[in-house]
Formats: sequence, C-alpha cells, structure tokens
Amino acid sequence: MTIILDGKKLSNKIIENLKQETENSSKKPKLAVIIVGDNPASQIYVKNKQKQAEYIGYESLVIPLPKDATEENILEHIYILNEDTNVTAILVQLPLPEHINKQKILEAIDPVKDVDGFTSYNFGRLALNYTPYAYPCTPKGIIRLLDEYKIDLDGKKALVIGRSNIVGKPLALFLQNRNATVTMANSHTQNLKELSRNAEIIISAVGKPNFITADYIENKPVIIDVGINRTPTGLYGDVDYNNVFEKASYITPVPGGVGPMTIAMLMENTYELFKIQRSLIM
Ligand code: NAP
Repeated sequence: MTIILDGKKLSNKIIENLKQETENSSKKPKLAVIIVGDNPASQIYVKNKQKQAEYIGYESLVIPLPKDATEENILEHIYILNEDTNVTAILVQLPLPEHINKQKILEAIDPVKDVDGFTSYNFGRLALNYTPYAYPCTPKGIIRLLDEYKIDLDGKKALVIGRSNIVGKPLALFLQNRNATVTMANSHTQNLKELSRNAEIIISAVGKPNFITADYIENKPVIIDVGINRTPTGLYGDVDYNNVFEKASYITPVPGGVGPMTIAMLMENTYELFKIQRSLIM
C-alpha cells in the first residue's frame, strides 16, 4: 500500500503550534519581504507568506520595488532592515530581475536575519554540519516530513534530481548529514533512469511536469516531488503522480506535499531567529 506524505496536515500542525507560542509572547516576530518586479507567481507566493505570517500573529512588512530597481536601491532597503531591531527576518523573493546580481543581494542580509538560510554563512554551516541560524526552507521541510513518517535515512540510497542553490544542493547536504548515500543529478546526467530505478529515496526538483514517469521507478522507493509547474491545464509536480503512485512506498502529492512544508518552515525559521536574537541581546 502506498502512503501519501501529507505536507498540508503536518504544516497545519506546525503553524498552529507557532500561533500558540506567538500568542504567549509579549513581543512579536516581524517578517520583512522584499519583492522586485511584477512576476505573477512571486506575487502569489509573497501574498501567501504575508497571510500566513499574519495568521500566526507575526508582524509583516512587504516592500514592493519596481522591476527596474537598481542593486543600490535593493541594498539600501536591506541595510535598513538589517539595522532595524524590530525586524526579525528578511526574505528577498526570487527570482530577481536579470540585471540584478542575486549573490550580491542575498549576501547583504545579516546572517542572523537570513530566514531562507541562503547566505554563505548559513549555507556554509549546513555544508559543514554545524548548526546555522536558519536552514533553507524547502529542504528543511522535506526532512521534517520524512521524519514525521519515521522514514529512516541512515544508509539509504538517495537520488536528488536538480542542483539549485535553494533546493537540490542544500537537500543533498542535509541527506548526507543524516548518513544517506547521496547521488545528485543535473541536466548533464547520462543514466538518470537507471540511477532512479536503483534509488530508495527519489527527490525531484527539476521543474518539468510529469518528468518522472513510471519507468523510472522500481523497488518501491520513497518519492518526494518538489516541482511546481503551472501549465494551461493546471498545476503539476515533476512526477507523473497517477501512473507512479502504485510503484511508490511513500509519495508527496502536488499540491499538498512539499509546498505547504516550505511555508511552514519559513514561519518556523522566523520564530527561531526571533529566539536567537533575543538570546543575543540578553
Ligand atoms: P532550477 O534552479 O531551475 O533547477 C532545476 C534543476 O533541474 C537544475 O539543476 C537542472 O540541471 C536540473 N535539470 C533540468 N533538466 C534536467 C534533466 N533532464 N535531468 C536532470 N536534471 C535536470 O529549479 P529550482 O529552483 O530548484 O526548482 C525546481 C522545481 O521546484 C521548480 O518547479 C520550482 O517551482 C519548484 N520549487 C518548489 C518549491 C516548493 O516549496 N514546493 C520550492 C522551490 C522550488 P542544470 O543545473 O544542469 O541546469
């Protein structure tokens, strides 16, 4: 029998716990989001993050900047937010317009306010298996979901498809830190089908609808679908869910799997940064 990894249910539980904790706290965390340009998907994501933050009881600030904003404009806002002791967490919504150097922008965020865990300080600490101020939200959410269902990672053959800095790369580090044997695939990988058939845990972060078809699956693996692909006929993951379902031991749906876990981890990171900053002041 295939078990659905219910990210929606777990994320609701995490959000309700955070709401409770926030209600009991006299001071509230504040999440600041910078969004540059008018990418429709980004606008939806930012609205959802703001809605969720406000539901929990956080203060929230969204700074919309025009698509022709300069690096200097964006950096100025980041410096102000870094200095503002009322701001707990800073997020720059990706993607940024092409004329902006993403690295320069992300690196300007104070690591103790880097809620996405994308600065080299926090990412480096993850790579070294030291505790960062914040872990990247999507990989952290995936590991939390696997833990919730008591899926053992130790010694398991894991295949991570995709090597982006926000999903594939940090996820591979997480899995190695948990003693999985990790293979990372990218668009140059030659024998993906064979690697996939061999894997005990398959995580797809490619961004192509129905990319993982039933012939990629053997031996009842755990399948995590990170993909969010909006098409004229609807929203799809990377995995051909209906045809793969029976061949998996566990599988995440899209929507309702990794997506809600990502946002829950963003909210959790905000609260954790809040606690860290308070302990640094005292
Ligand atoms: P990305 O930066 O576009 O990276 C895609 C990765 O897939 C690249 O490393 C690319 O390889 C690899 N790839 C492309 N074609 C491939 C192929 N034929 N075989 C093997 N690897 C291939 O994407 P991303 O930001 O990581 O996001 C990936 C997907 O996850 C997107 O659909 C995105 O919307 C979704 N996402 C979801 C969440 C969530 O919360 N659920 C969060 C973030 C992202 P190269 O490096 O060689 O180009």
